[in-house]
Amino acid sequence: YGPEYVRAIAPYQAGKPISEVAREFGLDEATIVKLASNENPFGVPASAQRAMAAAVAELGRYPDANGFDLKGALAKRYDVPADWITLGNGSNDILEIAAHAFVERGQSIVYSQYSFAVYALATQGVGAQHIVVPAKAHGHDLPAMLAAIRDDTRLVFIANPNNPTGTFIPAAEIEAFVAKVPSHVVVVLDEAYNEFLAAEHQFESAEWVKKYPNLLVSRTFSKAYGLAGLRVGFAIAQPALTDLMNRIRQPFNVNSLAQAAAIAALNDKEFLRQSAANNAAGYQQFVEAFERMGLEYVPSYGNFVLVKVGSDAGAGARVNLSLLKQGVIVRPVGNYGLPEWLRISIGLPQENAVFIAALAKALAE
Ligand code: PMP
Repeated sequence: YGPEYVRAIAPYQAGKPISEVAREFGLDEATIVKLASNENPFGVPASAQRAMAAAVAELGRYPDANGFDLKGALAKRYDVPADWITLGNGSNDILEIAAHAFVERGQSIVYSQYSFAVYALATQGVGAQHIVVPAKAHGHDLPAMLAAIRDDTRLVFIANPNNPTGTFIPAAEIEAFVAKVPSHVVVVLDEAYNEFLAAEHQFESAEWVKKYPNLLVSRTFSKAYGLAGLRVGFAIAQPALTDLMNRIRQPFNVNSLAQAAAIAALNDKEFLRQSAANNAAGYQQFVEAFERMGLEYVPSYGNFVLVKVGSDAGAGARVNLSLLKQGVIVRPVGNYGLPEWLRISIGLPQENAVFIAALAKALAE
């Protein structure tokens, strides 16, 4: 059944759930450390839990299809009109809605090698052609991406910071790129990890949306805000783009609990501050360990680090299996073309320590 371009899709490989690993390796769930999906190790903010508890009574009704309160809060935060915001069932939904709204079958989408796996899926899902631009030092090569844009290109995906490599492009370079992209091409600037950036790297990409009608900034509540399981993301773009996205999104794509929790999390500055501080400390913990062990890693600006665990193509899978047996779940990235590497999400200090000890053991085997 189905078109050839759908049959050709390789399914997304998510991090293994704790329950599955416990069963498969005969482990106690409580002892398993999962550092595989770039989740927030603090879990759901207490403020969001309270907001959801209050919203439960209304679950008999459909969610607000237009997300009035959440869009209002986001519009205020980013200083744009509310109709410049599109809500998504996670930012994954935003990426897919963008592909469906702006790209026709047979047209092309540009993205970088080693960038987020969903860009390939979204491209294939609409039967578009992939233009995959070779990465430079594990990150986006913006001049090459610009040169790769064709007349039939309708979308460019850029992740900044990038997943799975953690690389980051400074504001001036991104803006110079966006300014040069032809106006018939929509630039999706995916900033899922933005809130982990240190103050000196932060920039107001939402402000660029006012200058560039073909720019769409995508953000998520899954990472620094700790709401991955609820599935809330959003896009900021001018109405010419959001209007089209709004026509094809599912009417109730963000549920009521998610809307309530996202508003609370957005206002919980202390939770965000703690998440970023824990992440910065955990990053140092990883970097020191990798340097001690003599392991190559890619300097990361996200809440995860890509580390090279061997020099042969079997290394990532081998070390991953040893880690799983020790009750540590990380992310192999062979499907990204990085079979010697593993991607480790930054957890709580104790979780990071468990991973580091398990990695040392795996490498000694
Ligand atoms: N963009 C990037 C770069 C990501 O790494 C992820 C999550 N892995 C997403 C988007 C999607 O996250 P979510 O759908 O949870 O917002």
